[in-house]
Amino acid sequence: SKITGKDRLTHYDAALNSARERQLLIESDIRDGLEREEFDVWYQPIVDARSQMMVGIEALARWPRRPDGELKPDEFIPIAETSGLIYSLGQFVLRRACSDLQPLEDLKLSVNISPAQFRDPEFENKVSGVLETCRFPAHRLQLEVTETYVLENPERARSAIDNLKALGTAVALDDFGTGYSSIGYLRRFNFDTIKIDKSLAGMVDDDEQASALVSGTIRIASALGMLVVAEGVENEKQVKLLKQAGCDQLQGYYFSKPMPLHDILQLRLQRLG
Ligand code: C2E
Ligand code: CA
Ligand code: CA
Ligand code: CA
Repeated sequence: SKITGKDRLTHYDAALNSARERQLLIESDIRDGLEREEFDVWYQPIVDARSQMMVGIEALARWPRRPDGELKPDEFIPIAETSGLIYSLGQFVLRRACSDLQPLEDLKLSVNISPAQFRDPEFENKVSGVLETCRFPAHRLQLEVTETYVLENPERARSAIDNLKALGTAVALDDFGTGYSSIGYLRRFNFDTIKIDKSLAGMVDDDEQASALVSGTIRIASALGMLVVAEGVENEKQVKLLKQAGCDQLQGYYFSKPMPLHDILQLRLQRLG
């Protein structure tokens, strides 16, 4: 090969640069997107495992109006996090979701919160401000956080969770089963709800061992008094097994994909009509 060590290094640098450049580009696009109000919030129903009636909704950020088509939250959320833009984006999602769902009185609203937002000492005050502005009852709101947040600063996590609960807002542990911590450890925080991640919940119909692992996890969380929600439910067999394992609520494509507010309202009208 004619490629010398030096050329190879330059090439490698170029590859690194382009990933970094793409990130910077997206970062500045997010900033513009926020200013131009290009972001949107979609909603995915959460159903009661027994009645299969919609009891809640998870708000999910969407960014459909990018020049190169839709960019998924798995890509733009991490960039918003490292650039600090998550504060405005997160605040936007919370405000929009509370105002959109305010009229749907019997539905609970669940909103994802990044560790960075939670780190903000003003976070609880901001939540309380949004609730007031939107006249959204605190008990209808649930905030979803991941274990990363709890492990990063357990003391702050504990006080933030307790402050939010004092406001009347519920707190859910999101993505359970993707990290390293045990339920035993996480029990020491006052989570109201535990959300079993789709990678774990989806195993319930794989084989006996996997199924035993999933149902064991659900049983322990239930026994600890937490409401248990399984996400990523895609087929009837999973519904049956998760219900048997004691899951309280289910969420996934089997019931509904995330959709714009308009479609959620239609769904409600159909049910009432
Ligand atoms: P998440 O919090 O675990 O949300 C559930 C994700 O699983 C959503 O992906 C949802 O569309 C997808 N999903 C739901 N049911 C099924 C199913 O049956 N099968 C499969 N394969 N997937 C299903 P989405 O909307 O692309 O969001 C990805 C992640 O981005 C979220 O994962 C969350 O961590 C983050 N995210 C989304 N919106 C926000 C936000 O407003 N703030 C923050 N901080 N993070 C957000
Ligand atoms: Ca979530
Ligand atoms: Ca998840
Ligand atoms: Ca998550």
